[in-house]
Amino acid sequence: MKGHNVKRKITLWLTLLMALLTGLLLAFVLMVSRGVVEQSAQEQLCHTVQANTAQLTYHDGKLNLTENFMFYYNGVTTLIYSKNEALLAGQVPVAFHGQAPFASGLVQEVDGGQSRYFLLDLWVPDGWDNGVWLRGMIEAPATGQTARNLLLAAVIVLPAFLLLAALGSWLILRRSFRPLDRIHDTAAAIGEAKDLSRRIGLPPGGDEFSRLATTFDQLFARLERSFEAEKQFAADASHELRTPVAIIKSACEYGLRYDETPEERLETLQTIHRQTEHMAGLISGLLSMTRLEQGTERPSMVKVDLGQLAAQVMEETALNGRTVTARLSPGVTVMADPALLSRLLRNLLENAVKFTAPKGNILVEVAQTPAENLLRVADDGIGIAPEHQENVWQRFYQVDTARSEDASGAGLGLAMVSQIARLHGGFMTLESQPDKGSRFTLHLPRSNHK
Ligand code: ADP
Repeated sequence: MKGHNVKRKITLWLTLLMALLTGLLLAFVLMVSRGVVEQSAQEQLCHTVQANTAQLTYHDGKLNLTENFMFYYNGVTTLIYSKNEALLAGQVPVAFHGQAPFASGLVQEVDGGQSRYFLLDLWVPDGWDNGVWLRGMIEAPATGQTARNLLLAAVIVLPAFLLLAALGSWLILRRSFRPLDRIHDTAAAIGEAKDLSRRIGLPPGGDEFSRLATTFDQLFARLERSFEAEKQFAADASHELRTPVAIIKSACEYGLRYDETPEERLETLQTIHRQTEHMAGLISGLLSMTRLEQGTERPSMVKVDLGQLAAQVMEETALNGRTVTARLSPGVTVMADPALLSRLLRNLLENAVKFTAPKGNILVEVAQTPAENLLRVADDGIGIAPEHQENVWQRFYQVDTARSEDASGAGLGLAMVSQIARLHGGFMTLESQPDKGSRFTLHLPRSNHK
């Protein structure tokens, strides 16, 4: 309902503004039209009186009027006065009861009793008794009446006009606010149905609403990712922890009931220790995976020298006697999160150590092709059979289940590796042959990693 209130408010304000502007416009029109009408009356006055001066002639000292002299023309009455201001010819309009001194060449506004008049006097010199006065008069246009008519029309038309303006504003606002309603409806639907997969989906038009909708959609996508990751975490944790917890529980029960010698107790404790280590590895792996999926562990990309990073990780990883060869091309730089990339390489290296014989060989390689930067870990260990190769990237997938009790192995390492590769815009490949060895390669397209 909030959106409706805003629409109502804006419509009201727009209508008020429109009323104000119309009032102002009306006043302006009245003012200007009054000026124009008065000016045209005055022009008519000047024109007629001046035309009449040309119709005066003097013959033998006598004033003569030609037949074109106009005593009354187009609302203008012309009168002839003597020098002493005595009326010689013409008829003062009956309605005029005013007085005005003679002033040559000036238009005067005089109150004539019932209405106002414009007067123009012209002195026509020479000849008979040294000249005469020509006085023209015209009734000033009744602008008051015009104004009253206009106001009356406005009073009748204005409400209809304002109603139309309000309706128009309302329709335009309703149309403009439609995306907002869509945003509201989607958010409400997500809230009510808990369906985080819904999106507003406005076309990216670039206006404020579609930018807001895009931001909301991104927010919903993050929420969905986060929610899914959490759900997955809960499901995985409860599923994967069940076995070690059951083993620990039965080891405890067995130990309490049957273990008699210190050796037996030691064995039970070792079983419990192995399982707790396994659980710890599993939980920390799961947490890292969840954070990566949720986006809480956001990659912070910086320029990284792949060779230097590989050398450092090799130094930090326990290689347990394996022979490691490094073939690191210098100057291969990528835009990457160094912590995540180190974790990727560490996982691959630890796997290589785990799945090769104690005297096995491991090769770490950094290389570059025209299209890609490559980071590779190869070993001559037990290898992976072709039917398993696709699956090793899945969570909890382990080929050799006999090793699943290995404290550090939870089947999460390669899932994390492939996720880190994806976060960097790259991907992983695996080439492997049973009993010959495996080769894991990270491919980072060079266009993303200048
Ligand atoms: P984990 O190592 O914890 O078991 P991973 O996800 O790292 O889990 O690996 C999944 C499975 O892929 C391993 O259990 C193993 O069977 C197989 N694997 C991974 N790396 C190698 C390797 N270098 N050589 C042989 N098998 C491997």
